[in-house]
Amino acid sequence: MKCLIDGCDGVAKVRGLCSICYGAANASIRIGRTTWKELEDMGLSYKPQHKGSGLGAFAKAFKEKTSPITVAKIT
Ligand SMILES: [Zn+2]
Repeated sequence: MKCLIDGCDGVAKVRGLCSICYGAANASIRIGRTTWKELEDMGLSYKPQHKGSGLGAFAKAFKEKTSPITVAKIT
């Protein structure tokens, strides 16, 4: 998928943005110029595809691959 920013040919990685545009957006948010919500409303960003489940999905997949003994220790 191509970065959703007009004139950018980067490959979309996060929120429809390439890593460069994502970094620029993130920097603007960090200094308080905008928010992800505002960027979503402006069509300059998508909502995260797996709503907050990135880490959880990884943890689940990882858990499935690891031995039951390890899982038992965690839970
Ligand atoms: Zn881009």
